[in-house]
Amino acid sequence: MLSRDARHIALQQVGANGQQKIAAGTALLIGAGGIGCAAATYLASSGVGRLIISDFDTVDETNLGRQVLYTPEDVGKLKAEIAAQRLRTLHPGIEVTSITQRLEGDTLSTAILAADIVLDGCDNFATRFQVNDACVRAGRRLISGSAIRLEGQLAVFGPDYENSPCYRCLYVEADESLDNCAGNGVLAPVPGVIGTLMAVEALKFFVGIDTDTSVLRLYDAATTEFRSVRIRKREACPTCAASGAR
Ligand SMILES: [Zn+2]
Repeated sequence: MLSRDARHIALQQVGANGQQKIAAGTALLIGAGGIGCAAATYLASSGVGRLIISDFDTVDETNLGRQVLYTPEDVGKLKAEIAAQRLRTLHPGIEVTSITQRLEGDTLSTAILAADIVLDGCDNFATRFQVNDACVRAGRRLISGSAIRLEGQLAVFGPDYENSPCYRCLYVEADESLDNCAGNGVLAPVPGVIGTLMAVEALKFFVGIDTDTSVLRLYDAATTEFRSVRIRKREACPTCAASGAR
């Protein structure tokens, strides 16, 4: 155990045992944008043993305000590769791999099965739905986050819990007003807030701190307030029906 873990080891809720669980954990991050950069930074610095960073996009100058793992020299380079390089320098003792192809179908399922937990910080509903469905099928915990304008959302879905709703129980169809921050704008640290909370939830999962998997947290940066909305398992949810998890 390294002295860099001392503040975790001093925590009653983590301890040496919990830190070993963190070191033995594997997290898959979908998207290395503003949310993914923040989440991955804390997962790496906390010593999560294996991180898999998935993003097929390249760094654009408009990303630099909030995607804090990238510098102006990285513009045009693959985000997942640059992110993985930076994360390895944060904590040389962990393993970081990058996936630069678009994850869908079997490659998505394989990547999810290789992880203990999935953090989805992607920027579009099509991917969120696919990731949700694959997590339900694989029985993997899914931490989902999004950020747009001055608003953020966070939810933890637990197919490992009985009667837990899924992302499609929450969203029947894509809500395009929540897609694509290029058209909508986003205050730079808001994705960082959400990504950081996702890292907290992932560490809680690794060390066994219980979390509520039936609630959507809405962060409003304008009022500095969080609102909690109860999510119910939806009778007509196609994903839950297909998994037999009803
Ligand atoms: Zn569902």
